[in-house]
Amino acid sequence: MLDQLNTLKEKALRELNAFTEVMQLAEWHKQYLSKKGELTQFLKQLGQLSAEERPIVGQAANEVKQSLKEFFDARQQSLQEEKLNQALADDEIDVSLPGRLYQRGRLHISTQMLRKINEIFSQMGFQIYDAPEVESDEYNFQLLNIPAYHPARDMWDTFWINDQVVLRTHTSPGQIRAMKEYHPNPIRVILPGKVYRYEQITPRSEHQFYQVEGLTVGHNIKMTDLIGVMTEFAHKLYGPARKIRIRGSYFPFTEPSIEIDMDCILCSGKGCRVCKYTNWLEVGGAGMVHPVVLRNGGYDPKEWSGFAFGLGVERPAMLKHGINDIRSFYGNDLDFIQQF
Ligand SMILES: [Zn+2]
Repeated sequence: MLDQLNTLKEKALRELNAFTEVMQLAEWHKQYLSKKGELTQFLKQLGQLSAEERPIVGQAANEVKQSLKEFFDARQQSLQEEKLNQALADDEIDVSLPGRLYQRGRLHISTQMLRKINEIFSQMGFQIYDAPEVESDEYNFQLLNIPAYHPARDMWDTFWINDQVVLRTHTSPGQIRAMKEYHPNPIRVILPGKVYRYEQITPRSEHQFYQVEGLTVGHNIKMTDLIGVMTEFAHKLYGPARKIRIRGSYFPFTEPSIEIDMDCILCSGKGCRVCKYTNWLEVGGAGMVHPVVLRNGGYDPKEWSGFAFGLGVERPAMLKHGINDIRSFYGNDLDFIQQF
């Protein structure tokens, strides 16, 4: 019976190796390894054997079954590989080529800086307030203490949509909107967003850019609170070693008004082109909210006070990365944008 078993095994392996198609394997499996297959039939004859022979032949039959299974699996795999290689060789499309890489998107450098600034003020308890980019003359000028006849209008060259509607020239109209919405509660918001000026485009000026406006309204808010917030901002953005300088200034919607400067981060007091050899860089304009503006927002200036500030976004990004042309921000040049 052991001879019979060996013959069966040899026959099965010979057939297996002769196959050229994966399809043929199923028939072979049925013939030898299924419940009705030859090996199972063979095992059924074990009952006719003597008690001594039965375990020996039984064990040998199981070993043959196991090894046929292993050969089957190996043959199946090798046939599949052969078939794949053949397909690769026949086909014009090479499926083994790596796919095309998708370019990963990224945040624009202005957005990165804007988010950094938002984060710093959020940590100081400022909420972010969204205001429209298309504004009325009333909100962009009049309610900010800039009536139609006021010469301060010349500070902003304006894109007019019609006689009454403008592309906002600054984020300040958001101050009035925030006050009207939050009255009679205290306010601590920043108003980030894009502003538009009808200006000639040069390496130093664009007709569109980002600003971050800040506004607080509360009881007993003083100039020292403003200076404290600005100092903290400069330290968080540029490092704790920065020094702040305050200069008197003029804005129609703040009184008194100030300019905030910071010692030059590039030359550390030696003087360079970026600070125009003054050792100081402009951080932004600020001041105590003008009583007229408070009243226009619904707050009684006898009871309430507050400060406001306006910061650039492209400028700190230019300083941080040594960019010397603001036009790069809106030039849609991928080589530029992908550096950050
Ligand atoms: Zn400098």
